[in-house]
Amino acid sequence: MRIEVLNTGTELLLGNTLNTHGGWFGRQLFTMGLRIARQATVPDGDAIREAFEEMVVRADALLITGGLGPTSDDLTREIVATSLGLELHQDEQALRTLESFFALRDKPMVPANLQQALVPTGADVLPNPNGTAPGLYLPPRINGLSNCAIFLLPGPPRELYPMFHEEVAPRLRALSGVAEVASVSELKFTGIGESDFHQGIDDELAATEGLEYGYCAHMGEVDLRLIGKAEIVVSARILVLGKFSKYLISDDGSTIEATVIRLLREKGMTLATAESCTGGLIANRLTNVPGSSEAFTHGWVTYANEAKIGQLHVPAETIDIHGAVSEETARAMAEGALAESEADLAVSVTGIAGPSGGTEEKPVGTAWLGLAARGGQTIALKVYHPRNRKDFKQSVAQSALDLVRRQLVGG
Ligand code: AMP
Ligand code: MG
Repeated sequence: MRIEVLNTGTELLLGNTLNTHGGWFGRQLFTMGLRIARQATVPDGDAIREAFEEMVVRADALLITGGLGPTSDDLTREIVATSLGLELHQDEQALRTLESFFALRDKPMVPANLQQALVPTGADVLPNPNGTAPGLYLPPRINGLSNCAIFLLPGPPRELYPMFHEEVAPRLRALSGVAEVASVSELKFTGIGESDFHQGIDDELAATEGLEYGYCAHMGEVDLRLIGKAEIVVSARILVLGKFSKYLISDDGSTIEATVIRLLREKGMTLATAESCTGGLIANRLTNVPGSSEAFTHGWVTYANEAKIGQLHVPAETIDIHGAVSEETARAMAEGALAESEADLAVSVTGIAGPSGGTEEKPVGTAWLGLAARGGQTIALKVYHPRNRKDFKQSVAQSALDLVRRQLVGG
């Protein structure tokens, strides 16, 4: 089955928004045994018609994203309908869904939203529980002209992704009839550099017949993707975990914060955070995880010395003698957070984000982490992440989450 993707939106070509849909579709389709044959990106307006008319005669399935909103540059629906010679009519069900979307949020529905309930004759409405624009599905031969299955999908990823899984994937599966699907395993590792990881495993992976694999390194993390027949992927996983299991964050694509929350819940334990240089990022990442309320109790952002002293009972002398960024302060912050909360564990961070404030002894990028455990010993760890402020915060948060993870797995 020849699948083509048409991404619409002037912002994608001005470079204001990175076009992530093509890559995302590619990954999803791959796991279904399908691939994208061609992808095009066009600005809003008549360029959509030109690209659509070219692609619809060539493709068996066409996925179009963007341009389903209520504004005057959202033209995809009209262009597709007129190109195929289909009438647009107001769909009652789509209209009621739109009305209840606004009623639930206590917002008035403006007349412009009415066009979002317009549906070409013969098309299916694809519900959008995360936004106002429903998707549309035009089955092959709807107009007697095109043999192509056409999907009109919303632009915002948080609307598009669920709709793809709920509405698009099942239809593509049925249309393609692909039976054998490649198995995919996504392993995430932390605490080991990309080159050490590569050095340790690449020859053996390369020698594994029928295995397609790839690395992806991002801040404080190395991801490994294994693709192939199920039994080949399983044996490659055993190979990799035999060497690197102590660095494993997850084998199902879960983030380190999700892993920490899962481990805490499994052990019936709770965690508090005492943050300085990360400004609450650790607490933010933890509370992005569903179910975190069972495991995360408190988060302090004690940025000023007075806050560390007043809220977390860090002795003023400790800061005077050793500095706010020191092993002693990190330990005292973690112990103070443990004493002030009922949590089983407390993790602390204090560091120098820069660009100023570094010294020869403690250069910009230095951070101390502390981990206090009820009835256990406090651990401290120095890390060095000389990056811009945002990346520094992410990296320090990653190191702190890994400190908690290792404590929980006993590594
Ligand atoms: P829409 O109103 O449906 O055209 O979509 C508008 C929003 O979706 C924009 O604000 C973009 O942030 C996002 N969006 C649209 N297309 C893409 C794309 N190809 N990749 C990433 N984001 C996109
Ligand atoms: Mg748009």
